[in-house]
Amino acid sequence: MDFMIEVKTVKDLYHNANYCQSCGSRMEIKHDREDKLRAICPACGFILYKNPIPAVAILALNENNEILLVKRLYEPRAGMWALPSGYIEIDKSPQENAIAEMKEETGLDGAIDHFIDWYYGYSPIYLRTLSIGFRMIIKGGKLEAGDDAEDARFFPLNSLPPLAFAAHKHFVKLETGIDSP
Ligand SMILES: [Zn+2]
Repeated sequence: MDFMIEVKTVKDLYHNANYCQSCGSRMEIKHDREDKLRAICPACGFILYKNPIPAVAILALNENNEILLVKRLYEPRAGMWALPSGYIEIDKSPQENAIAEMKEETGLDGAIDHFIDWYYGYSPIYLRTLSIGFRMIIKGGKLEAGDDAEDARFFPLNSLPPLAFAAHKHFVKLETGIDSP
Protein backbone atom coordinates (compact mmCIF):
# COMPACT_ATOMS: atom_id res chain seq x y z
CA MET A 1 0.00 0.00 0.00
CA ASP A 2 1.23 3.49 -0.74
CA PHE A 3 2.40 5.78 2.02
CA MET A 4 -0.15 4.57 4.57
CA ILE A 5 -0.05 6.83 7.56
CA GLU A 6 0.02 5.32 11.00
CA VAL A 7 -3.17 5.43 12.99
CA LYS A 8 -1.92 5.26 16.54
CA THR A 9 -5.23 4.76 18.30
CA VAL A 10 -8.85 4.35 17.29
CA LYS A 11 -9.49 7.64 19.11
CA ASP A 12 -7.33 9.39 16.49
CA LEU A 13 -9.85 8.31 13.86
CA TYR A 14 -12.64 10.12 15.70
CA HIS A 15 -10.71 13.30 16.44
CA ASN A 16 -13.17 15.42 14.44
CA ALA A 17 -16.36 13.75 15.69
CA ASN A 18 -17.28 16.59 18.03
CA TYR A 19 -21.04 16.99 17.76
CA CYS A 20 -23.94 14.65 17.02
CA GLN A 21 -25.12 15.13 13.45
CA SER A 22 -28.62 14.14 14.52
CA CYS A 23 -29.30 16.25 17.64
CA GLY A 24 -26.23 18.48 18.02
CA SER A 25 -25.14 17.22 21.46
CA ARG A 26 -21.49 16.75 22.30
CA MET A 27 -20.30 13.30 21.15
CA GLU A 28 -18.47 10.90 23.46
CA ILE A 29 -15.82 8.42 22.39
CA LYS A 30 -16.66 5.20 24.20
CA HIS A 31 -17.06 1.49 23.79
CA ASP A 32 -20.14 0.07 22.09
CA ARG A 33 -21.84 -3.27 22.81
CA GLU A 34 -19.08 -5.09 20.91
CA ASP A 35 -16.45 -3.28 22.97
CA LYS A 36 -15.28 -1.25 19.97
CA LEU A 37 -14.51 2.44 20.39
CA ARG A 38 -17.09 4.61 18.62
CA ALA A 39 -18.30 8.18 18.67
CA ILE A 40 -21.65 7.88 20.46
CA CYS A 41 -24.18 10.60 21.29
CA PRO A 42 -25.11 10.42 24.99
CA ALA A 43 -28.35 12.32 24.36
CA CYS A 44 -29.97 10.44 21.47
CA GLY A 45 -27.82 7.32 21.04
CA PHE A 46 -26.67 8.11 17.51
CA ILE A 47 -23.47 6.24 16.64
CA LEU A 48 -21.00 7.66 14.13
CA TYR A 49 -19.13 4.93 12.28
CA LYS A 50 -15.87 5.74 10.58
CA ASN A 51 -15.39 3.56 7.51
CA PRO A 52 -13.14 3.59 4.47
CA ILE A 53 -14.82 5.88 1.93
CA PRO A 54 -15.99 3.92 -1.13
CA ALA A 55 -14.97 5.19 -4.56
CA VAL A 56 -15.06 4.03 -8.18
CA ALA A 57 -12.38 4.34 -10.86
CA ILE A 58 -12.86 3.77 -14.57
CA LEU A 59 -10.36 2.31 -16.98
CA ALA A 60 -11.30 2.80 -20.63
CA LEU A 61 -9.22 2.47 -23.79
CA ASN A 62 -9.99 3.91 -27.21
CA GLU A 63 -9.63 2.10 -30.56
CA ASN A 64 -5.90 3.00 -30.63
CA ASN A 65 -5.33 1.30 -27.28
CA GLU A 66 -4.87 4.66 -25.57
CA ILE A 67 -6.06 5.17 -22.00
CA LEU A 68 -8.57 7.79 -20.89
CA LEU A 69 -7.26 10.11 -18.16
CA VAL A 70 -8.49 13.31 -16.55
CA LYS A 71 -6.44 16.10 -15.04
CA ARG A 72 -7.76 16.77 -11.56
CA LEU A 73 -9.02 20.27 -10.84
CA TYR A 74 -9.65 19.79 -7.10
CA GLU A 75 -7.91 18.25 -4.12
CA PRO A 76 -6.84 15.63 -3.37
CA ARG A 77 -3.96 15.70 -5.86
CA ALA A 78 -5.16 18.70 -7.87
CA GLY A 79 -3.22 19.10 -11.12
CA MET A 80 -2.33 15.42 -11.42
CA TRP A 81 -3.68 12.99 -13.98
CA ALA A 82 -5.92 10.14 -12.88
CA LEU A 83 -8.45 7.67 -14.12
CA PRO A 84 -11.96 9.11 -14.16
CA SER A 85 -13.13 8.47 -10.60
CA GLY A 86 -15.31 9.62 -7.75
CA TYR A 87 -16.85 8.79 -4.41
CA ILE A 88 -19.88 6.55 -4.46
CA GLU A 89 -23.15 8.42 -3.92
CA ILE A 90 -25.73 7.03 -1.47
CA ASP A 91 -28.41 6.75 -4.19
CA LYS A 92 -26.34 4.98 -6.85
CA SER A 93 -24.82 1.51 -7.20
CA PRO A 94 -21.07 1.29 -7.88
CA GLN A 95 -21.80 0.56 -11.56
CA GLU A 96 -24.23 3.48 -11.87
CA ASN A 97 -21.62 5.71 -10.23
CA ALA A 98 -18.95 4.63 -12.69
CA ILE A 99 -21.16 5.39 -15.69
CA ALA A 100 -22.15 8.78 -14.20
CA GLU A 101 -18.57 9.77 -13.33
CA MET A 102 -17.32 8.94 -16.81
CA LYS A 103 -20.02 11.13 -18.35
CA GLU A 104 -19.47 13.99 -15.86
CA GLU A 105 -15.69 14.07 -16.11
CA THR A 106 -15.08 13.23 -19.77
CA GLY A 107 -18.35 13.73 -21.66
CA LEU A 108 -18.18 10.12 -22.87
CA ASP A 109 -20.90 7.50 -22.60
CA GLY A 110 -19.67 4.24 -21.19
CA ALA A 111 -20.86 0.75 -20.41
CA ILE A 112 -19.43 -1.57 -17.78
CA ASP A 113 -17.34 -4.37 -19.27
CA HIS A 114 -16.03 -5.99 -16.11
CA PHE A 115 -14.96 -5.50 -12.52
CA ILE A 116 -11.15 -5.19 -12.26
CA ASP A 117 -10.34 -5.34 -8.56
CA TRP A 118 -10.70 -3.35 -5.37
CA TYR A 119 -7.95 -1.40 -3.63
CA TYR A 120 -7.67 -0.37 0.01
CA GLY A 121 -5.84 2.93 -0.09
CA TYR A 122 -4.93 6.14 1.65
CA SER A 123 -6.72 9.48 1.36
CA PRO A 124 -5.23 12.70 2.73
CA ILE A 125 -8.79 13.84 3.48
CA TYR A 126 -10.66 10.72 4.63
CA LEU A 127 -7.66 8.65 5.70
CA ARG A 128 -8.89 5.41 4.14
CA THR A 129 -10.63 4.69 0.87
CA LEU A 130 -11.90 1.54 -0.78
CA SER A 131 -11.68 1.94 -4.54
CA ILE A 132 -13.59 -0.29 -6.93
CA GLY A 133 -12.12 -0.47 -10.43
CA PHE A 134 -14.27 -1.01 -13.52
CA ARG A 135 -13.18 -1.63 -17.08
CA MET A 136 -15.54 0.30 -19.31
CA ILE A 137 -16.28 0.39 -23.01
CA ILE A 138 -16.74 3.77 -24.69
CA LYS A 139 -20.12 3.83 -26.41
CA GLY A 140 -20.28 7.41 -27.64
CA GLY A 141 -20.34 11.02 -26.52
CA LYS A 142 -17.83 13.79 -27.16
CA LEU A 143 -14.54 13.99 -25.25
CA GLU A 144 -14.69 17.14 -23.14
CA ALA A 145 -13.40 17.84 -19.61
CA GLY A 146 -16.24 18.18 -17.11
CA ASP A 147 -16.73 20.66 -14.28
CA ASP A 148 -14.37 18.94 -11.87
CA ALA A 149 -11.65 18.17 -14.43
CA GLU A 150 -9.11 20.58 -15.90
CA ASP A 151 -8.53 18.39 -18.95
CA ALA A 152 -9.50 14.99 -20.33
CA ARG A 153 -7.58 13.13 -23.01
CA PHE A 154 -6.20 9.82 -24.18
CA PHE A 155 -2.60 8.77 -23.51
CA PRO A 156 -0.63 6.02 -25.26
CA LEU A 157 0.19 3.28 -22.78
CA ASN A 158 3.94 3.80 -23.26
CA SER A 159 3.82 7.49 -22.28
CA LEU A 160 1.55 7.73 -19.27
CA PRO A 161 1.97 10.72 -16.94
CA PRO A 162 2.39 10.17 -13.19
CA LEU A 163 -0.95 9.01 -11.81
CA ALA A 164 -2.49 10.59 -8.72
CA PHE A 165 -3.51 7.46 -6.84
CA ALA A 166 -1.98 4.09 -6.05
CA ALA A 167 -5.38 2.49 -6.65
CA HIS A 168 -5.35 3.74 -10.25
CA LYS A 169 -1.80 2.46 -10.84
CA HIS A 170 -2.98 -0.90 -9.53
CA PHE A 171 -5.93 -1.05 -11.93
CA VAL A 172 -3.79 0.05 -14.91
CA LYS A 173 -1.21 -2.61 -14.09
CA LEU A 174 -3.81 -5.36 -13.84
CA GLU A 175 -5.55 -4.44 -17.09
CA THR A 176 -2.63 -3.47 -19.30
CA GLY A 177 0.49 -4.90 -17.64
CA ILE A 178 1.97 -1.38 -17.61
CA ASP A 179 3.76 -0.02 -14.55
CA SER A 180 2.64 3.61 -14.70
CA PRO A 181 4.75 6.32 -13.07
ZN1 LIG B 1 -27.58 12.99 19.31
